[in-house]
Amino acid sequence: MSEPLVAVEGLRRVYRSGPKEVVALREVSFQAGRGELVAIRGRSGSGKTTLLNLVGGLDRPDAGRVTVTGREVTSLAEDGLLSLRRDVIGFVFQSFGLIPVLSAAENVGVPMRLARTPVAEREERVRMLLALVGLADHANQRPYELSGGQRQRVAIARSLANRPRLLIADEPTGQLDSQTGRQIMQLIRALVRSEGVTALVATHDPGLITLADRVLELRDGVLRPADAPAPA
Ligand code: ADP
Ligand code: MG
Repeated sequence: MSEPLVAVEGLRRVYRSGPKEVVALREVSFQAGRGELVAIRGRSGSGKTTLLNLVGGLDRPDAGRVTVTGREVTSLAEDGLLSLRRDVIGFVFQSFGLIPVLSAAENVGVPMRLARTPVAEREERVRMLLALVGLADHANQRPYELSGGQRQRVAIARSLANRPRLLIADEPTGQLDSQTGRQIMQLIRALVRSEGVTALVATHDPGLITLADRVLELRDGVLRPADAPAPA
């Protein structure tokens, strides 16, 4: 097998507040291949967010190693992490994380501004991305003028702005009703195919798990392969 896009080895994360210690991840290891959609399931508090934050370079582990496209995330300095998060990884969060005063198009353009993409190219790609997520006709609306599902579509378009190799989505359907959630998950499924990105998606929604290529389960910080999902 060629080198995996994501390799996680012996990851451990302990939160300390005063004398109390919470072991959020215990020696977690897994790999994800190019173009693979991996679901990480587990109930609230099982360590999903902690794991995704470590893979995305938003946090540092107490032990273990994360490699993304051959770069060792866990040993990068701050500038290396910045470029990793800007150029290599796209993030999607439960709460969308859009900038309220910007239009849908402007929100999608933000990562390209940060990457100093030339204006004409940026505008063209924003149009393409909004069309890709089905929002071509909503480019000028602000987040409060959009439904929850539409907001998450904007966030997904934004996450793809700089052509990431890896999409990290932390409970992307957590604030959506189940039907809208399913549409968002189907969109992610389709984009993983069409854009060739690898995706790690945390969810505790059993209905969404069936769309994944592979399912991993976290229980109290311990990761194991989940049983094969039942067909929908
Ligand atoms: P999930 O995303 O699956 O709900 P988390 O990764 O958020 O799980 O949390 C895993 C465990 O770590 C939980 O017991 C949680 O309370 C604890 N935890 C998460 N973040 C912190 C923090 N910043 N400080 C202390 N404990 C934390
Ligand atoms: Mg979480």
